[in-house]
Amino acid sequence: MRVAVFSDIHANYHALAAVLAALDAEGCDELWCLGDVVGYGPQPNRCCALVAERASLCLAGNHDLAALGAISLADFNDDAAAAARWTQGELDEQARAFLGGLEPSAKRDGVELYHGSPLDPVWDYVLDEQAAYRSFLATEAPLVLVGHTHLPLALSWHDGELAGGIPAAGTEVVLEGARRLLNPGSVGQPRGSDPRAAWLLLDLARGLGTFRRVEYPVGETQAEIRAHGLPEALAARLAAGV
Ligand code: ZN
Repeated sequence: MRVAVFSDIHANYHALAAVLAALDAEGCDELWCLGDVVGYGPQPNRCCALVAERASLCLAGNHDLAALGAISLADFNDDAAAAARWTQGELDEQARAFLGGLEPSAKRDGVELYHGSPLDPVWDYVLDEQAAYRSFLATEAPLVLVGHTHLPLALSWHDGELAGGIPAAGTEVVLEGARRLLNPGSVGQPRGSDPRAAWLLLDLARGLGTFRRVEYPVGETQAEIRAHGLPEALAARLAAGV
């Protein structure tokens, strides 16, 4: 089975459309979304509708929960909180129903999926070796998928040794022979100084993961962010991929 794994769309419709076109061209049997469909970006309803239609599985992220008013904005920075408040007023009934039915973790085909991490599926950031180490200890799953940090990550755990790091676009990871923790990176607010939308192709039959990046019309999303009066920093960062 070939699975497209993607995360952190953040209401960036143009980035989502580019990723969907790329994964359709590759031929994927299932689409798994690791959460944060909304927040930061200008097209929450369109992104919810498209993910609801296409994804076989979708997790809830902290921004999705914030947009529903299900978690406090106290832990959000000013720009994230401003965008979350805007999103709360913008969500239509279908989008609210879709987001309201999501959970922050799931298991599928022996794979564990978390928006944050096994320690805290909503909020924990797997950004360094300590966090990765704690995540590997918190579960026995051979393959763990996480999102939330917006940085692609490919780590392995074998014989008590942690290895790996941030994979370049095109990096292939053999899944056999070690436990793996993979983060596809972000569709709609990519970081790592690469503005291209990120996703991960998992070929579970062949035991192979491939990190992908695809260009999208950043200027169109920036124009929509500005047209809605969302914070300028949220538009500017998309061009730099930070
Ligand atoms: Zn996010």
